[in-house]
Amino acid sequence: MNSPVRISLAIPVYNEEAVLPELLQRTRNVLDEIPGGPHEIVFVDDGSTDRTQALLEQAAHGDPRISLVALSRNFGHQAALTAALDHVSGDVTVVIDADLQDPPESIPLLLEKFEQGYDVVYVQRVKRKEPLWLRACFFVFYRLMAALSDVQLPLDAGDFGLMSRRALEQLRTLREHHRYVRGLRSWVGFRQIGVRIERAERHAGESKYSVLRRLKGAMDGIFAFSIVPLRAAALLGGVTMFLSFLFALYSLYAKLIQHKSVQGFTALILSIIFLSGVNLFFLGVIGEYVGRIYEEIKGRPLYVISHIVRGNSGIMPPEPASARRSGYSG
Ligand code: UDP
Ligand code: MG
Repeated sequence: MNSPVRISLAIPVYNEEAVLPELLQRTRNVLDEIPGGPHEIVFVDDGSTDRTQALLEQAAHGDPRISLVALSRNFGHQAALTAALDHVSGDVTVVIDADLQDPPESIPLLLEKFEQGYDVVYVQRVKRKEPLWLRACFFVFYRLMAALSDVQLPLDAGDFGLMSRRALEQLRTLREHHRYVRGLRSWVGFRQIGVRIERAERHAGESKYSVLRRLKGAMDGIFAFSIVPLRAAALLGGVTMFLSFLFALYSLYAKLIQHKSVQGFTALILSIIFLSGVNLFFLGVIGEYVGRIYEEIKGRPLYVISHIVRGNSGIMPPEPASARRSGYSG
């Protein structure tokens, strides 16, 4: 290792009491092995309703490296992750899930790339252990996302990864509400590289993502990084107009040359229903973008902090809300 660095782990946690003891042990072991420091672990408790918060407070009291940022309610994974990123102070930050699907033991591997001069090291998941249908969905989603997005998004990369201080500082300035953090990380730029790491099964507990929530997350990704869905309406409209023009020509030909009127009650009904469907569909697409404008314009903070527990200085109230516009004071 070239020069000693201070590593921060940013970990969003929601109802993970079953994995916490193992998580704490494994992350601390990994940090113990890495020279430099003092390293830190910033947990964000995303409004857990089990013993997660109590366990984390206890951990923070017992280890000066551990801090807990407790949110006032459940704000969702990406908001909790943002809160964690807003509170780390190391030279490099590693984002990792609490459920040990991403092995903390691979952190030195990420660090190696950082020392080769990369600002962002993202992890591409290979050999996922999720059910086949879900893996198929992930496969299609990441490829669709990459095709639609104006930013170059790596395939199969999750939030697990490392960021240098300067990359993180840029990421922190992006305060959009429907967050797709891995996309924002690509947007930031600098030198980025992927490493392929096997994704384990959840150590314990259940995934916090229902199918609906995953779908919402996927839509956040697409709508935040692409306006192709808007253009698709124009494209489809163009194609339909062209087809109707051809049909008009044919109708004229049939009437004037062949002296017969075009029949087609069924075709009429079908095309009316089809085109009303298309209209409503794209009204919905426009609605998604308008809804997002509305969310942004309200300018609400991304999360609200209930309290912060730092390893060595005890419980602290959050900074006043005025200093924390959009949940970030830096
Ligand atoms: N998480 C969170 N808030 C939520 C949902 C999840 O902070 O509302 C955390 C969760 O504790 C875990 C990470 O986000 O550390 C990823 O969640 P999960 O493992 O359920 O997602 P999956 O890996 O199944 O996509
Ligand atoms: Mg998980």
